[in-house]
Amino acid sequence: MALTKPLPMAPPPAHEGILRRQSLRESAARTYARSLPIVPVRARGLTIEGADGRRYLDCLSGAGSLALGHNHPVVLEAIRAVLDSGAPLHVLDLATPVKDTFTTELFATLPAEFADRARIQFCGPAGTDAVEAAFKLVRTATGRDGLLAFTGAYHGMTAGALAASGGAPDTTVTRLPYPYDYRCPFGTGGGRGAELSARWTENLLDDQKAGVPHPAGMILEPVQGEGGVIPAPESWLRRMRQITATRDIPLIVDEVQTGVGRTGAFWAIEHSGIVPDVLVLSKAIGGSLPLAVVVYREELDCWRPGAHAGTFRGNQLAMAAGAATLAYVRENGLARRAADLGARMLARLGGLAAEHDCVGDVRGRGLMIGIEIVDVRATADDAGALPAAPELAAAIQQECLRRGLIVELGGRHSAVVRLLPPLTITDEQAEAVLDRLADAMAAAVRTSTGPTASPRPTTTPSM
Ligand code: PMP
Repeated sequence: MALTKPLPMAPPPAHEGILRRQSLRESAARTYARSLPIVPVRARGLTIEGADGRRYLDCLSGAGSLALGHNHPVVLEAIRAVLDSGAPLHVLDLATPVKDTFTTELFATLPAEFADRARIQFCGPAGTDAVEAAFKLVRTATGRDGLLAFTGAYHGMTAGALAASGGAPDTTVTRLPYPYDYRCPFGTGGGRGAELSARWTENLLDDQKAGVPHPAGMILEPVQGEGGVIPAPESWLRRMRQITATRDIPLIVDEVQTGVGRTGAFWAIEHSGIVPDVLVLSKAIGGSLPLAVVVYREELDCWRPGAHAGTFRGNQLAMAAGAATLAYVRENGLARRAADLGARMLARLGGLAAEHDCVGDVRGRGLMIGIEIVDVRATADDAGALPAAPELAAAIQQECLRRGLIVELGGRHSAVVRLLPPLTITDEQAEAVLDRLADAMAAAVRTSTGPTASPRPTTTPSM
């Protein structure tokens, strides 16, 4: 019997093996890896190159943490300088020149009336660690326990931060309606929801029988990010500041995602001019490496030594990369640039909305942009909003990926396509991003089964 040797099979491409092993070995809780099955091996600025040789425009930017994009030269240089200097990389919370420079740079970017009388606490390295620290801080300072937080909020995944987020009810957290014009919790649009939200808050705090004990603090995002890119009106933020100040309730502003120029101001609080009692910062402040801090009014500094500790509070590389990033954004006016370019991108997206019925709303602030995808087969609610269309949004995300564009989904029903490009994105790159997105949306609409998302007719139907 003649033994025929099987033909040698071509080895599977390395990236396929890596992806297969990832799905076999990593937790079922993995997230981005599911919708973005790519294996990044090189990256610079807006561009990521996969192990399969494909290149992608990255509008996820490490969930908004890469203000300068991937591997920006000033960030790499700052990291190399620390490595070459022989400085220790890990120092708990000891003082170092690198940390001193970081703190000086950070304070220089904050509104003077806040920074002049502020303290900084270096926390564990994630945004959620800083949120936990902020809660503990205000609880210690006020001797009170309850917290006020908003519908749709996202503050992190550790127990306390999660309890203050939209998805996880908790008895110590009283939930207040966030002003979301497109899906107004009061069924009214046109900005009236913000006024009603403020009144509801005042009423709850002043009604002795409301069942809400005097809280230790209120936490809010100036623009809800994960909640679906929802900018709070400036007048509402000022009302919340006034409501909390007159009732002696510390206001915690979570700028983990909105900070470092993202929304068109260095810090999003600058748009409304409010001065918080506590600022929670992470993501971009570490220049792509893990770093989180809480900055707060010095009167709140009632902690005893060691009251809030942690091993990883002294990451020197992150502080150096962060200081370089903060300085670069400040010196190059990147917040202004984010405001200008973001406004132009929003205007072009408005055109896309006019072409596609499935775009229910386009909104954002600076380079934090969201496109809410809706189900055109359903009936609109009283305020004119259609139900979310998460499947179509996921199809758009996949079509984007096929065209070499990485976008994220967010929002209450994962139906908001989110753009978080680096602040260094050029005009040409922004055009390329929007071209690919428009093309992807048209393709997803075409292939979506049923009339969920028919493109708008280009000619006026004759009567
Ligand atoms: N707050 C906000 C506003 C965030 O967007 C996030 C993360 N997306 C967090 C807190 C939590 O940060 P981390 O994932 O680093 O814990």
